[in-house]
Amino acid sequence: MADIRKLVRLLNELDEELVCCTRCGMCQAACPLYGETGRETDVARGKLVLVENLSKEILDNPEAVKERLDRCLLCGSCEAACPSGVKILDIFLKARAIITGYLGLSPVKKAIFRGFLSNPDRFDRLLRWMARIQGPFSKQIDETLGSSCARFMSPVIGDRHYLPLAKTAWHKHAHRRFKRPNHSGPKVAFYPGCLIDKVLPRVGDAAMRVFDYHQVDVFVADQVPCCGIPALAAGDRQTFEQLVRKNIQIFESVDYDYLITPCATCTSTIKKLWPLMTENFPAALREKVLAISEKTRDINEFLVDVVNIQPIGDQPISEKRVTYHDPCHLKKSLGIFSQPRAVLSALPDREFVEMREADRCCGMGGSFNLQHYDISRKIGQKKSSRIIESGADVVATGCPACMMQITDLLSHAGCGIAVKHPVELYAEALDKMGETEAAAHTPASEAKAK
Ligand code: SF4
Ligand code: SF4
Repeated sequence: MADIRKLVRLLNELDEELVCCTRCGMCQAACPLYGETGRETDVARGKLVLVENLSKEILDNPEAVKERLDRCLLCGSCEAACPSGVKILDIFLKARAIITGYLGLSPVKKAIFRGFLSNPDRFDRLLRWMARIQGPFSKQIDETLGSSCARFMSPVIGDRHYLPLAKTAWHKHAHRRFKRPNHSGPKVAFYPGCLIDKVLPRVGDAAMRVFDYHQVDVFVADQVPCCGIPALAAGDRQTFEQLVRKNIQIFESVDYDYLITPCATCTSTIKKLWPLMTENFPAALREKVLAISEKTRDINEFLVDVVNIQPIGDQPISEKRVTYHDPCHLKKSLGIFSQPRAVLSALPDREFVEMREADRCCGMGGSFNLQHYDISRKIGQKKSSRIIESGADVVATGCPACMMQITDLLSHAGCGIAVKHPVELYAEALDKMGETEAAAHTPASEAKAK
């Protein structure tokens, strides 16, 4: 059990934040979970009442409190809809830290977070080993999406259609140092995040081709510690803080203008949650957290607002269509929604079409999908219907977790629609125009050539 003084301090912090809720219930209509279950205990208002009585409820039935708090996608739809500006996600994350501090981590989570996630080299080795043995247990199911399913009954995977692990983590062949000493353009430190590093390396390669085309000088570290959100969502502040420190150690020695990530979840974690959850850090370290958070940008935001990309070519009318899903962490947490659309509208070979309810949550919610796959899939089916009715042949989104969830949904639907990151489509358009000499020199192709 955590230091009781720490728990009391955290409980007091929550009291101050909770007073803003007027119980108006406006969060109900926005909550995708409530939309499926209709349970007041699932919606923000119900959970806030629980948190208000946390000190008593923890003593009465801590496991039940944990179960109710964990039933949440942390999507922030409630916070975006709340007229009183209640900082709902801050409250939920702190409440999860309190309850985990009280109950302790389960042995499985302890092994995953403290044994592997907090040790990037060991985590890389584990995933490399899993990538090697995944073949006999998987069979490819959809060529367009690159999805697979389990060959045998699996209690962990169930009937998910998933993207296989990359054979080698992307950063292993992609690490770079700044190479343009007299360069006047932006210098960026690129942070791929775990999912692009280990599951979707093609997005990292695409980002490098785009940076090279626009003469952006890039640094890629030779280690990618997780941003810490899985640990934080599980209430494990110890692992979260350890990962923040590891990342700071890597980036503090680099002189960069922006830290760019193609992952909506990492962007929102570094920008918003690192400052929020590190108030207890020593002042010098805290300054470093705030500096890195200040320089962090989503890759679409960077390409549009800093690089100022323009439409490629003459924009011929095309029968091919692309639509866009707003990741909750990008639109609801950071207010970024026009820039990814601007990237997609720059493509010469596709017409951009809006789907209805583009910012409706896809149902992924990180570990929520693992714990509550049935509800996650039901929430997601509304999203896949909207994608299909848009008539697009590709759906783009700026979050690799959403890409995985939508891949699962569309693979089950068998509709032939591809799932891509906006930066992939942009890089592909440059490749087609023969504009990326860099295409021949991507880290992946260099690695293959060796
Ligand atoms: S919308 Fe905001 S103020 Fe209203 S009940 Fe929900 S959390 Fe409370
Ligand atoms: S974060 Fe999302 S799932 Fe959780 S209560 Fe708010 S709207 Fe509902």
